[in-house]
Amino acid sequence: MADRRGLLLIISSPSGAGKSTLSKRLRLWDPTIRFSVSATTRKPREGEVDGKDYYFRSRDEFEKMVATGEMLEHAEVFGNLYGSPKAPVEANMAAGCDTLFDIDWQGGQQIRNSALGKDVVSIFILPPSISELEGRLKGRGQDSTEVIAGRMAKSQAEISHWAEYDYVLINDDLDRAEEELRTILSAERMRRDRQPGLTGFVRGLNKEFEERQ
Ligand code: ADP
Ligand code: 5GP
Repeated sequence: MADRRGLLLIISSPSGAGKSTLSKRLRLWDPTIRFSVSATTRKPREGEVDGKDYYFRSRDEFEKMVATGEMLEHAEVFGNLYGSPKAPVEANMAAGCDTLFDIDWQGGQQIRNSALGKDVVSIFILPPSISELEGRLKGRGQDSTEVIAGRMAKSQAEISHWAEYDYVLINDDLDRAEEELRTILSAERMRRDRQPGLTGFVRGLNKEFEERQ
């Protein structure tokens, strides 16, 4: 058995609130965190790499993955299909590694309600204001005006799910939000049920007691 039980860190937010930025920073801080690369039918944005940012798939290919049970969860977001492949998550759990998911509320709900629900730690990221959210989407410079308008229109619905999450943080100052994210992860890793090696460790302490008698 691995010394620790890996957890599933789910991060959701309205588009543009900063979850990709914060996820990347968290992985730089701790490179042992494994990112769940989702499959999507969305077209790649400039600079996005197949197999690293997403597995870019046709609708047919995606639907086949769902039909063969390869997806832990899947959902339609902004008119495209997105889903988290199951096999890498199972491998990460077996290795005692944490998996980070950047997924929407529908995916979060499906994983929370699955057999892996007890391993989930979920975090919702709020923008400091709606005008700042729009400014960030525009400033990212990767989506057309129509796509940005579509994302803004959906952001209120995404935000309405904030209370389903274990933790909520407001991404105003990036450094502070990153610090808060690290704090959450560090504390969650210390939970007794995520440290199966403790039983053996305490047994060793007791053996030492006995040897002193
Ligand atoms: P999401 O993954 O939630 O769609 P991104 O991480 O792509 O959002 O962030 C959207 C834009 O906002 C990016 O250009 C990013 O650099 C910027 N951004 C993220 N967090 C902050 C912050 N705290 N302050 C200012 N800009 C930010
Ligand atoms: P984007 O197109 O900006 O990369 O992502 C759009 C939305 O889809 C974001 O809210 C993102 O979190 C969500 N998303 C990305 N991958 C998945 C996934 O595998 N499953 C679900 N349910 N949502 C996803």
